[in-house]
Amino acid sequence: MATMIIEGERVGASSGETYQVMNPATGEVIEQVPNGGPDDVDRAARAAAKAQQAWAKLAPAERARILHKAADHMLGQAEEIAPVLTAEQGKTILESRIEARRFGENIAWFADLADKIHGEYVSLPDTTTYGLVLRKPIGVTGAIVPWNFPLTLAANKVAPAIAAGNTVVLKPSSTTPLATLRCIESLIEGGLPEGVVNVVLGPGTGDAIVTHPLIRKVALTGSTPTGKKVMAAAAPYLKKVVLELGGSDPCIVLDDADVDEAAKAISVGRFFNCGQACLAIKRLYVQEGVFDALLDRLIERARKLKPGDGMNRDSRMGPMHTAGQRAEVEAQVQNALDRGARLVFGGGRPQGAEYDKGNFINPAILVDVPEDSRMVTEEVFGPALPVMRIKDLDEGLVRANASPFGLGSSIWTSSMKAAHRAVQELEAGYTWVNALQIAHDELPFGGTKESGFGKEHGLEAFYQYTEQKSVVYGLV
Ligand code: NAD
Repeated sequence: MATMIIEGERVGASSGETYQVMNPATGEVIEQVPNGGPDDVDRAARAAAKAQQAWAKLAPAERARILHKAADHMLGQAEEIAPVLTAEQGKTILESRIEARRFGENIAWFADLADKIHGEYVSLPDTTTYGLVLRKPIGVTGAIVPWNFPLTLAANKVAPAIAAGNTVVLKPSSTTPLATLRCIESLIEGGLPEGVVNVVLGPGTGDAIVTHPLIRKVALTGSTPTGKKVMAAAAPYLKKVVLELGGSDPCIVLDDADVDEAAKAISVGRFFNCGQACLAIKRLYVQEGVFDALLDRLIERARKLKPGDGMNRDSRMGPMHTAGQRAEVEAQVQNALDRGARLVFGGGRPQGAEYDKGNFINPAILVDVPEDSRMVTEEVFGPALPVMRIKDLDEGLVRANASPFGLGSSIWTSSMKAAHRAVQELEAGYTWVNALQIAHDELPFGGTKESGFGKEHGLEAFYQYTEQKSVVYGLV
């Protein structure tokens, strides 16, 4: 049975309750997991508070050294961790390998910043005094993670937090806790002191993290409805929150685009991780002149996406993570069809004995999708792409921005002027111009509108795990 990691101990839930983690490709139970609750979060928060005193007092260069060593050790185990991620999440082993490595690389990236916390000297009107602005760690932080990229999204929170001298109570998604536990164990084996990262498990631990008074900041990646609940629950404590929420990223392709390159990027952008990505391209707006050519190429690429168990070498797309998630995407597609959309490729479920027990789905491409259909107004968290025809960039920008979400966005064009307008006018936290949707470590990542606020990645994420403190020194 898996255990939680609290203050250096491997423990079950204080209630003694457990639940099961299932394999989305086979429907088999793969592990029994503690079903933690508020008491377990309390213990983890106290452990984290105790550990934080010593962790924050370490010389920053020493903290950086410990984190690099721990990250190296974890990276040495990435190949063993990847199949655990595939078994619990469903993604292909190739996708899991990339993600497992991203965990260690992220810890190492922020480790480099641990000894680069700078402050300011400020001259004051009374010249017998002067001011300083210091940066201090916040203390104990909470990290709440979804199931679509369990490792990447855990590392996005844990890495900057601990590099800046904070400690963490981490809650993986209830359905994907196992690879995360392995990653944290491996950091500890590699020298990360016990108590710096504590892991609690079970659906009831999320709210307990948000409302625990010792936890001063909460970073959530999840859906927009969850983000709203978390913000409301954190308000009575005036807790800092970072909310990385849902998205419905638009992509605009203009007549002067490189259609082959656009098709390649859009196919990855929509179908990677079986379409279960916050940054996936969820609405495609294509100018009339290249509409047919792009559609042909997208269909050609989608044909190669053979669904299958992520552990099989010939699988190009794993199952959806849960049966409920698959039913939701199927309902969104049906809603578009009912309103007059046409399915031009795929749809439905793959047939055959190998698919019987898993949450498999075929990729789908639809055209003539009305703007008021669920595929356009909601987030589609699965491998279904609505392709809409536009006259020009003006229409593309208006339709792209007509969404409550504002996470990512992209444009394909060879016109500098069009690209410039898109960069200025698309309402989103990220805009890719003729590029694949990758969130780079070096660039701040986060949404606007109902996609949330606060940043992960980049210096901004690191500084958001520190608090500024002003100091005045009198010279008498
Ligand atoms: P979810 O909102 O259901 O759950 C996310 C996490 O929050 C889970 O660990 C869950 O247990 C916890 N949680 C749920 N209710 C809570 C509450 N009231 N208080 C505290 N914690 C609570 O999301 P999901 O279904 O796991 O993930 C998919 C969603 O995440 C999609 O909407 C997707 O777009 C979004 N997402 C966003 C980003 C981003 O960076 N913006 C990245 C990946 C996924």
